[in-house]
Amino acid sequence: MRDPLGPRWRRRLPLPAVLAGAVAVVLLVSPASATAPSAAPAVDLVRVGDEEANVVEVLLAGTAQLDALVATGVDLDHHVAHTENGVVAHAVVTAGEAAALTGAGFTLGRVLHRPADARERVAEREATIAGHVAENRQFAAAAADPTAPDASDVKIIRADWYTSGTSQILSVEAKWAQGQTAATPLTVERDSGPGTEFGSGGTQTISRFVDAGVYLYHRGAATVTSRPDRIRITSPTGDVAVAQVREWLPTPGTGPEGPGYQKDFVTSYLTPTELYARIHQLAAEFPRLAEVVELPYKTNGYRRHAQAVLGAATASRVAVDSLAWGHEGGNAISVELADPGAANTPLSVTVTGSAVRVTLGTDGAGAVTSTAAQVVAALNAGAGALLRAYTYRGSPGTGVVAPAPRTPLSDGLSAPASVSRDPHPVYAIRIGKHRDGSKLGVLAYAQEHAREWVPPLVTVETAERLLRNYAHDGQTKQLLDNLDIWIAPSVNPDGGHYSFYDFNSQRKNMTNHCPSTGAADFLARNSWGVDNNRNYTEYSLFDGYSGASSSCTSGTYAGPSELSEPENRNVDWLAARPNIRFSMNLHSSGNYFMWSPGAYALPDRVSAPRPTLAEESAFWGASSRILAAIKRHRNMAVTPARTGPISDVLYSAAGNSGDMLWYKYGIYAWNFEVGTSFQPEWDEAHDETMEFANGLVELMRVARDFAKDNSRPRSTLAVAPSSTPGMVTVTFSTSEPAAVFYTLDRAAPTYASTLYGSAGVREGGETLTVPAGTTVHWFSVDSAGNVENNYRPDGNGRNYRQGTAVLPAG
Ligand SMILES: [Zn+2]
Repeated sequence: MRDPLGPRWRRRLPLPAVLAGAVAVVLLVSPASATAPSAAPAVDLVRVGDEEANVVEVLLAGTAQLDALVATGVDLDHHVAHTENGVVAHAVVTAGEAAALTGAGFTLGRVLHRPADARERVAEREATIAGHVAENRQFAAAAADPTAPDASDVKIIRADWYTSGTSQILSVEAKWAQGQTAATPLTVERDSGPGTEFGSGGTQTISRFVDAGVYLYHRGAATVTSRPDRIRITSPTGDVAVAQVREWLPTPGTGPEGPGYQKDFVTSYLTPTELYARIHQLAAEFPRLAEVVELPYKTNGYRRHAQAVLGAATASRVAVDSLAWGHEGGNAISVELADPGAANTPLSVTVTGSAVRVTLGTDGAGAVTSTAAQVVAALNAGAGALLRAYTYRGSPGTGVVAPAPRTPLSDGLSAPASVSRDPHPVYAIRIGKHRDGSKLGVLAYAQEHAREWVPPLVTVETAERLLRNYAHDGQTKQLLDNLDIWIAPSVNPDGGHYSFYDFNSQRKNMTNHCPSTGAADFLARNSWGVDNNRNYTEYSLFDGYSGASSSCTSGTYAGPSELSEPENRNVDWLAARPNIRFSMNLHSSGNYFMWSPGAYALPDRVSAPRPTLAEESAFWGASSRILAAIKRHRNMAVTPARTGPISDVLYSAAGNSGDMLWYKYGIYAWNFEVGTSFQPEWDEAHDETMEFANGLVELMRVARDFAKDNSRPRSTLAVAPSSTPGMVTVTFSTSEPAAVFYTLDRAAPTYASTLYGSAGVREGGETLTVPAGTTVHWFSVDSAGNVENNYRPDGNGRNYRQGTAVLPAG
C-alpha cells in the first residue's frame, strides 16, 4: 500500500505577467474573432432586476470555443457533452445575457429549464409538507374525538420481522398524535411468541422521523432473540396500540447491504435550515455515534441592505442603499423625489422618521433642474444617517432626474421569518464511534452551489443510513467503528436559502462585492456573490489559471482574494483535519465523477500537475467501485467519458475545492455531479438521492478497505460462444472489486484504454462481443491502487495480461 500522504505538490505554475495578461485579454475576445481583440465586444453578463434565468444549450465548435465561453465568466451548468458535431454546454442565462452571448458570436440551442420548472418543484415540496401536516392533524383529531372513545393516540403502521445473516430483526413504524410537538421516543414491548406476555421478548425504542420540519412517524429496528408474535406500544398519554408482527421477506439485495438495511430517509427537498435541523436531530438521537460541529466561520448571512433605483435613464438614475440591513429597519425607509410645482425652488431633503423626501430644484419656469449627481449629494448630506446614495453604475449623473412617488426601499428577500437573517452558522455532522482523530477521516460536503438541491439530500441520506444501520448491520458497524466521517450538507446556506425563496438559479453565495461605481445597485442583485467553488487556494484565478472570473457579477466570480469567503474558510478548516484522507464534493448535474487536476492555464492548456501513475491507479480503482454502487440502484451508469480529471471531462475550474484538497492537503478528493438537472421533479430527485447515497456509502467502504488492502488483484478472461458467426463473447472477472482496462488492438493497456464496464465481484460485468481470435491485453487495479502483477500502466510496461479470444477446446 502506498502512503496516501506521500509527496504532494505545493508549487504553482510560475506565470509570467505577460501570460496573466493574455488570460485577461481572453475575457474580452469574441470567440469568432481571434485577430482583432480590441475591436471585439465584451460580453456584458449582468442580470437585470427580476429578469429570470433559463438553462440554455450553447452549441460550440470545439474545446477552444468552450474555453472562450468559460472565459466570458458566464454561469455554466456542470454539463458538457462532446458530440460528433462539436461540444454542447449548458449556460444559466437571462434574456439579456443570452443576447450578449449571441452578440459575441455564440450559438444558443434549446431552452432546457425555466424558472417555472423550479417554482413547480417548490410548489410540489410545499404540497408534500402540507399533506404531512394535514395527515397529522386528521390523526390527532380522530384520536381526540370524544364520540370515538376507543381511538388511541398511537397507531402501529407496521411491524416487520426478518432475518439478516444470523441475526433476527424487528422493524417497527408507528404514529403518535403528539409526535409533531413532543420529541419523546416510544417504547415497543415484544412478546416472545404466540400466547406469551407483552414484554417477555424484551423492549425496543423507536424514534421520530421528521422531514422538512414535519413529523411523519416513529421508526426503528432492533435485533431480537426470538420471533415476536405481537407488539404493544403504550403512548406517553397512556393510550395503547397492539399489532401482529409480520414476516417480511425482502428481495435479496445485490449489493453489500444485507436484508433489512434501512434507507430512504428523504421525502422532499430540504432547505439549509431544514438540513441543519436534520443533522441536529440525528446527533441528538445517536449521541454515542455522532455530534454536530459548528464550523469556525459564520456566513455573511441571508440579509441585504434595502435598496431602490429611482429613474429610468442611466444618466438620471439615483441608486439608494439603506445603512441598516433590510430586516433591521432598512425595509422601512422610503424615498420620494417630489416636484415642488413652484418656480425657483432650491433642492432640499427632509427626513420624517424613515420617510425621506427630496424636494427637487426648479428653474424660473418651474421646471425640475436637479441632476442625479446633485440629488445624490443632497441625499447623502440630508439623509446620510439612514442611507447612502450614488449615481447609477459609475455614471457622472448629469441627467435631470424625473420626479418619483414615495418608493419603499427593499432588501428583496422573501424567505419566511423562520429563516435567520443573521450571519449563519455552518454545521457538519461528525459520525464515528471514535471521534478523536485516531481513525481515518472521510469528508463529504455539498451545496457550494446554492441551486443544486439534490446533493445535500445525498449527504443527509448517507448520514442517516450510517447511523440507523449501525446497531444491526455488520458492514455499517465496521465503517463507524473504523472511520471518522465528516458530513457538511450545505456549506453555502445563504445562497441555498436565496435559491429556495428568491432566485432559483442562484449559484453563488449572497455577498455583494461590487463597488458602488459598478453593479452594486438593486437591479443587479441576482448577479452578486462569489462562486464558492472558485475561491480556493490552489491553481486559482489569482495564480493565473482559467475558468474563474474577476468580475463581481460573473457566474464564476472568484472573489476578491483566495479564501475571502467564510464558506471557503470552513471547507479549508475541514480539510485541514489531519486524519482526513478521502473526500467527496457533491454537485449537480451531469452524472460526472471527477478528480484533479481541475484547472489549466490558457492559452496552451497548461494543466495543474497530474497525479502520479500510482495515485491515478487509486483514483480509477476506487472510482469504479463507487460507480458500481451508484449503478446498483436503477442501472444508471456514469460513463467512462464522464469519469476522470475535471479538466479532461468538463472544463477548467480555477480555484476549485477538489484541487485544494488534493494539492494542498493530499486528500483523495472526488467530485460527484449528481443527476440530470439542478432541481428535477421529485421522483427523479429521490432516485438520484438513493443512487448517489449508495456511491457515498461505498466511498466510506473504499476508505475502510484502503488502509488494509495490500494485495494486488488478479483477473481472468473468459471466452464463450456468440450467436454471431465468426464472433465470440468475452468477459473479465476479478479476485476483488477492481477496475479492468483493456485493448483489442495489441497496444499496451493504460488508463486511457477502455474501462471494462464492471467493478466488482458482485456485479457481473458487461459482455464484449469480438471477432474470434482477437488479441486482448488488459490489467486490473483495485481501489487502493494496487495494480495486477505490479504492472506500470504508463504505456512502457510489458507485464500486462494477454489472452486470445478463442473458445476453450472441448
Ligand atoms: Zn456545482
